[in-house]
Amino acid sequence: METKFIFVAGGVMSGVGKGVAVASIAKILQARGLETTAVKIDPYVNVDAGTMNPTEHGEVFVLDDGMECDQDMGNYERFLGRNLSSKNYMTTGSIYLDVINRERNLDYGGKCVEVVPQIPLFIIEKIKRAAKTNRAKVVIVEIGGTVGEYQNILFLEAVRMLKIKQPDDVALVLVSMLPVLEAGGTELKTKPTQYAVRTLNAAGLQPDIILARGSVPVDDSRKEKLALNCNLRREDIISAPNVKNIYEIPLNFEKDRLSDLLLKKLKLKAKKKDFRKWKKFIHKSNNPTKKVRIGIVGKYFNSGDFVLTDSYLSVLEAVKHAAWSLRADPEITWLNAESYENNPTSLEELKNFDGIIVPGGFGKRGVEGKIAAIKYVRENNIPFLGLCYGLQLAVVEFARDICGLKEAHTTEIDPETPKPVICTMPDQLVNIKKKQMGGSMRLGAYKCKLHPKSISYKLYTTSHPSTLLGTGKLTPNLLTPNFLISERHRHRYEVNNHYRLKLEKGGMLIAGLNPQRELIEIIEIPEHKFFVATQFHPEFKSRPLSPHPLFVGLIKAASEIK
Ligand code: GLN
Repeated sequence: METKFIFVAGGVMSGVGKGVAVASIAKILQARGLETTAVKIDPYVNVDAGTMNPTEHGEVFVLDDGMECDQDMGNYERFLGRNLSSKNYMTTGSIYLDVINRERNLDYGGKCVEVVPQIPLFIIEKIKRAAKTNRAKVVIVEIGGTVGEYQNILFLEAVRMLKIKQPDDVALVLVSMLPVLEAGGTELKTKPTQYAVRTLNAAGLQPDIILARGSVPVDDSRKEKLALNCNLRREDIISAPNVKNIYEIPLNFEKDRLSDLLLKKLKLKAKKKDFRKWKKFIHKSNNPTKKVRIGIVGKYFNSGDFVLTDSYLSVLEAVKHAAWSLRADPEITWLNAESYENNPTSLEELKNFDGIIVPGGFGKRGVEGKIAAIKYVRENNIPFLGLCYGLQLAVVEFARDICGLKEAHTTEIDPETPKPVICTMPDQLVNIKKKQMGGSMRLGAYKCKLHPKSISYKLYTTSHPSTLLGTGKLTPNLLTPNFLISERHRHRYEVNNHYRLKLEKGGMLIAGLNPQRELIEIIEIPEHKFFVATQFHPEFKSRPLSPHPLFVGLIKAASEIK
């Protein structure tokens, strides 16, 4: 049987949850027993998302194979419970780069290479390759941006071409916002969506389904109006109201029988839906028995007057997964690292939290504030989880305060520091010197050997094993001192092994090491209630149904669950 393709485009405006809609469509088809995968197309000329500023574009998500991509890929992995690969992500830049490289290799056999048809044909080829790699029966493709934008015309052209060739194998879904005018009561306005459909029509496309986003559910008369004006039937309009918990969206879609509609459209047969585990998870998340207050000390959330938390999306989701699994309701507060600089009294607010996270980051801004916060939580026995930069700055703080290395620093901030406790490996130095910054960090999955006496070891071997190497259940013979995990990385700097003994003498436990290069992957302070920091990003591997062991550890310590 042919692979089936569901393209998802956005109308009217961006930021209405198209990525989560794609993840939810993938989820409902997966729940019907179909092998499903999701692909994201980003309209940027950037070859990957690694060079994009998180305050502008949101979090840079990292896959096992090192691909730096859009945060929506994280949503796909979380909803599907699957690891995706670089084949599932493309940008305008990466597509052009590949086509130009082909042309340079004479792969077009001397023919003129034109934007149309070569670029759309190449897009189709890439999507088919992604489906094949993932052995998917259905591939859901998210087209970034909104219809009518000049920059995604070639992607729509790819949909048009594929649909002409394989009409029964392609469905097009439009995710469109129905705004409510403040002065007009609560009526959802349909006209902008009607225009979006006309724009698609002008590109030679007709949506098969409209996911009508709105602050409230879409009523029948609005559905009728949209159907009539957008060449659809009323049942092709799916109500997609705002929700508090995004993981409920697949269930909401099913209220309007979205999976049945798609299956019929694509002439697909499937099993009856099975949402048992998912529903159990939703029930747990909606019925907490206690509150846990978590503070996240960062800097990428101030965008003018807005608090933008997208830069830390996976951290946020990982906290939720872990808390919900323990029947706790996470109350998350975003704490601005800069506010702690030269201001010891402001640190007192950290006492109000059950746990503190210092997530990943780059550059000088806010660094001393993060270090001050880490010192405070270390001295006040407040549960702490450091992620990447969070580990590096915890090492700097410990070196300065406990090991007496007053001038300790990371060479990222002070290249001339006499005590470079965090520095670059020679391979990274080459990249920095050549200014080859795109795609050149330590990226993707690396193995890590756990210290048998560490908290991490205990957590990984007792919690849900989503991060364990290999598949299947834990067996007693895995509980050996050489127990390995695999976690994702995105950084240029490392703990300098020259200072390892000094750190250990000061009471720091090296809880995880890279087996090949002896690089420090996890540190802990055994005396502390919970002080764990990782060079990798555990948040990228947390899933709703298998929360990450280290986040579980933080929440357990924070809420004093045994
Ligand atoms: N800036 C640090 C490095 O490049 C940490 C990166 C991160 O937190 N992702 O090593």
